[in-house]
Amino acid sequence: VLSNLQQQPADALLALIKLHNADPRADKIDLGVGVYRTDSGATPVFAAIKAAEQRLLETQDSKAYLGPEGDMDFVHALMPYVFGAANPTFDGRIEGMQTPGGTGAVRLALALAKRAGVARIWMGTPSWPNHAQIVADLGLELKGFGHATPGGQADMDSLRAAVASAQAGDAILLHGCCHNPLGIDYAPAQWDEIATLVKAKGLLPIIDLAYQGLGEGMEEDAYGLRRVLGEVPEALVAYSCDKNFGLYRDRVGAVYVMMADAAQVNAALSNGHALARAAWSMPPDHGAAAVRIILQDQALVALWQGELDEMRARMRQVRAKLAASGKAGAVDLAPLGSQNGLFSIVPLNAEQILAMREKHGVYMAGSGRINVAGLTMGNIDQFIAAVADVTSA
Ligand code: PMP
Repeated sequence: VLSNLQQQPADALLALIKLHNADPRADKIDLGVGVYRTDSGATPVFAAIKAAEQRLLETQDSKAYLGPEGDMDFVHALMPYVFGAANPTFDGRIEGMQTPGGTGAVRLALALAKRAGVARIWMGTPSWPNHAQIVADLGLELKGFGHATPGGQADMDSLRAAVASAQAGDAILLHGCCHNPLGIDYAPAQWDEIATLVKAKGLLPIIDLAYQGLGEGMEEDAYGLRRVLGEVPEALVAYSCDKNFGLYRDRVGAVYVMMADAAQVNAALSNGHALARAAWSMPPDHGAAAVRIILQDQALVALWQGELDEMRARMRQVRAKLAASGKAGAVDLAPLGSQNGLFSIVPLNAEQILAMREKHGVYMAGSGRINVAGLTMGNIDQFIAAVADVTSA
């Protein structure tokens, strides 16, 4: 029976890593997979994480099972950052559970929506490819709308049209900040309108916040999430600590449920526990424990936030330099300056992307997405020259 399993295409981005590794050129540039890199190309462990891990090593006295909800002190310690220090539980209406990364959080949020009776998920496209994969795997219907205009602005008209044709009880999946892959975020005034529209239509918002702090700042990056949650009775939030704490492979995330009434929260979340139990039973502990230790110690919080500020400043510097170069051949790099987070799309066709790789050793996704943090003050001119070369007739 197992011979019924047909060969599946390899994940394109993971295949790109292999190609990059096999390339002997010293000046090759990896703009593929989405991890932060320093100006010397490294993805180091945060000093705050190292300090927390040291403390964990010295003080952890058991590795006995926790439960499907994971480390609830971690889940709670994050809440002031996500939902605001003034009222982090929205008067007891929000509670969460730990998940294996943001992927586990997205999976659980969508599975909870399905269990609650949601049949259709509205989502701006393009999006992180795994969104559509998870929606399909759960047997939900995906309804796409354009996330951005050809001019590189958030496309409010297509969002308005999508909400207009949606039915009450559908869900809408929104990137909280640092849109992957476009880097184009809704401005505060646009979030204000989205909050009103989503509420008026009776849609369930599912907010995916995977890059808090990598855009404009921890508070700024939570604006849309808080604005939407402030308006609607119910919402789901999928959160990742894998980027803003540099924990990628340790798989640190959380899913939060917001209900109309605090008395409904435990019942709703018990479905999350049941779904987790049947899937991964409980989340990996180590990374979340390290995040908890940081968030419970003001000195470590300061250290972590300094490291996050440095990352954000470096990505801004790269973006500013790209924007300042203006036109590279046929491509206008100026819009990248005002985009947010790790990713942007450089509008190249398949042939040009192949030439970037073969002729210039620049590895980027087939969509034209680049990881901005793969650029450094040492290689950025080479990248700009390569774009100019492959787009010049
Ligand atoms: N949501 C979005 C939009 C993402 O880009 C990612 C990671 N690439 C995730 C969720 C999940 O991140 P992870 O599972 O690594 O925490």
